[in-house]
Amino acid sequence: VGANLARAVERFPDREALVDVPSGRRWTYAEFGAAVDELARALIASGVERGDRVGIWAVNCPEWVLVQYATARVGAVMVNINPAYRAHELAYVLNQAGVSLLVASLAHKTSDYRSMAEQVRPECPALRETVYIGDPTWDALTARATPAQAAELAAREALLSCDDPVNIQYTSGTTGFPKGATLSHHNILNNGFFVGEMIAYTEQDRICLPVPFYHCFGMVMGNLAATSHGACVVIPAPSFEPEATLRAVQQERCTSLYGVPTMFIAELNLPDFAAYDLSSLRTGIMAGSPCPVEVMKRVVSEMNMAEVSICYGMTETSPVSTQTRRDDDLERRTGTVGRVLPHVEVKVVDPVSGVTLPRGEAGELCTRGYGVMLGYWDEPERTAEAIDAGRWMHTGDLAVMRDDGYVQIVGRIKDMIIRGGENVYPREIEEFLYGHPKIADVQVVGVPDERYGEEILACVIPRDPADPPTYEEVAAYCRDRLAHYKIPRRVEILDAFPMTVSGKVRKVELRERYARRG
Ligand code: ATP
Ligand code: MG
Repeated sequence: VGANLARAVERFPDREALVDVPSGRRWTYAEFGAAVDELARALIASGVERGDRVGIWAVNCPEWVLVQYATARVGAVMVNINPAYRAHELAYVLNQAGVSLLVASLAHKTSDYRSMAEQVRPECPALRETVYIGDPTWDALTARATPAQAAELAAREALLSCDDPVNIQYTSGTTGFPKGATLSHHNILNNGFFVGEMIAYTEQDRICLPVPFYHCFGMVMGNLAATSHGACVVIPAPSFEPEATLRAVQQERCTSLYGVPTMFIAELNLPDFAAYDLSSLRTGIMAGSPCPVEVMKRVVSEMNMAEVSICYGMTETSPVSTQTRRDDDLERRTGTVGRVLPHVEVKVVDPVSGVTLPRGEAGELCTRGYGVMLGYWDEPERTAEAIDAGRWMHTGDLAVMRDDGYVQIVGRIKDMIIRGGENVYPREIEEFLYGHPKIADVQVVGVPDERYGEEILACVIPRDPADPPTYEEVAAYCRDRLAHYKIPRRVEILDAFPMTVSGKVRKVELRERYARRG
């Protein structure tokens, strides 16, 4: 990872590497490389040894990216800590990963990071030092850098292996408690590189990143795809805000925009959406959760993103396994998650027997190749459950491989609803309901039912809060167009869904909420 940045600095010294719109700060590759070098030397001066874990607990800001590259250069393992965590979750991760140095935001919105970090300090014996971004403790850290550490830094880099762990990244926690995927330089750098290749990034590209750096979407598909092609990363805001995102695209003339589906939905639904000039965009990535066809089509036609790409992946595979390509037609671009990336293998198996299924049949997607993580940090049993003896990662996702090699994700094994013995994939119903004129966003979950085992509940965010669809309207829309057993039996109207910080809907929480209200 360090060598990759060095190459960008050498090839594109005067091109912009990083722009922080909220603060107006900007770095060329030469400046960014120098700032990383200084921070790397400061880490050495602070006693960070090869293999030590350095935690980053921060919303999006330039320092996040500096820490990403500086820790990689000194051979440390950066531990991404979810910015939504509260004190007890922070303490769990600090101890689970054995973090010795923590870099944290000061505060953002409702999170006072400093007081939570101070509170957990006595419970975290490995933690030696905490530094706050935008605070004298950060200046004190960087001030430790002197030319004297240059030789030590060079010696460390010479010893680094591409198979060394560089990052512990916790999964989103969509289905339960997050797991610490441990990733090597080789894992994440290759993934960032290939994702950027598929989009044909060059040093002319400017990538607007409203997705959190904390998650691989931001730090691999964003930051590493950018540095490996000399492109520029633009930070629109510390955390997702639709207006700030579109404003940043317009002001910075971004060519690429990332987001999970809910982010694009929020942007498209802004009342003044048409007022933003998005003519600089050509591409972008939608990923992270099922990408509704209707939303993808609007992104292509209304956001000027004719080449927008869907990626499918998971933290454990660094993350991307399949991706749509630049020259894909609209059907493949909007209706599939693309085909397998170079040097990656995928197969679809029967979840019970493990036998590979013929093309066209739904089963569990498994993936293998350079992207598969080293393992879950300090959890050999959970690692063995996820990665089999043949090094195949079992994703827990249900997929179909079509005859043309394009993959469709039909759902997650854990989200599948079994209603009266029929398997129902929420995804299919959600796709269908997106077509309803009164529905802005929808999530379908199974809730316990005495008669059928599970019943289908549609959680709807209406386009117009003053005029939400009634249950009758939704049912009438489905009648004769969906098999009767797939028609939702309940509709709940919501203003917003419970989300993970990476912008994914926490279906577990929806299920629990409405199971109780029964
Ligand atoms: P946890 O494993 O902690 O429950 P998570 O699986 O959501 O959380 P991530 O690693 O962030 O954590 O997400 C990977 C998952 O996201 C995949 O397994 C898949 O279910 C879903 N996903 C990612 N991209 C897509 C996509 N393009 N289409 C459909 N689903 C996707
Ligand atoms: Mg997962």
